[in-house]
Amino acid sequence: PKPVVAIVGRPNVGKSTLFNRLAGERIAIVEDKPGITRDRIYSNSEWLNRSFHIIDTGGIEVGSDDEILLRIREQAELAMQEANVIIFLVDGEAGLTSTDQEVAEILFKSRKPVVLAVNKLDNPERLNNRFDFYELGLGDPVAISAGHGIGIGDLLEEVVKHF
Ligand code: GDP
Ligand code: MG
Repeated sequence: PKPVVAIVGRPNVGKSTLFNRLAGERIAIVEDKPGITRDRIYSNSEWLNRSFHIIDTGGIEVGSDDEILLRIREQAELAMQEANVIIFLVDGEAGLTSTDQEVAEILFKSRKPVVLAVNKLDNPERLNNRFDFYELGLGDPVAISAGHGIGIGDLLEEVVKHF
């Protein structure tokens, strides 16, 4: 079976933008039983002849802070069950937030390989923002701009190491 890579992170960090950049063909929008909003979007993806499945987590992200956190937790836990490797995406424009810290804790407990990617580093002036995220204790952050297509190869290189 193909390896599965899930993109996890708080709302608005750019998960869907990264997903769309990596996605070949969208294969399914999965919505499970009513009451359990487990919508995830799957696609095939390929990098340097290695193919894998990619999952975008998130979906509708409105509600109180508690509701959003609960939902991130649910999505992160589902993604951890399914994924071989997790891309933990954070926002290098906004900087480190307490929600990032909470997501990091969930991911840390999963013992799955996590690649930390700092998004929205669109220009060289912003590159230093990535150093904030060492505090998460998840290793070297990879600087990317999903919007501008910067650092995507570096990110995938780290990801495929864990296949
Ligand atoms: P999600 O909620 O994590 O899925 O985030 P989205 O992919 O929907 O993106 C949230 C917002 O961030 C949108 O307005 C995107 O256009 C913007 N965004 C995503 N990637 C980048 C990036 O690399 N640079 C900048 N400046 N904005 C980005
Ligand atoms: Mg999204």
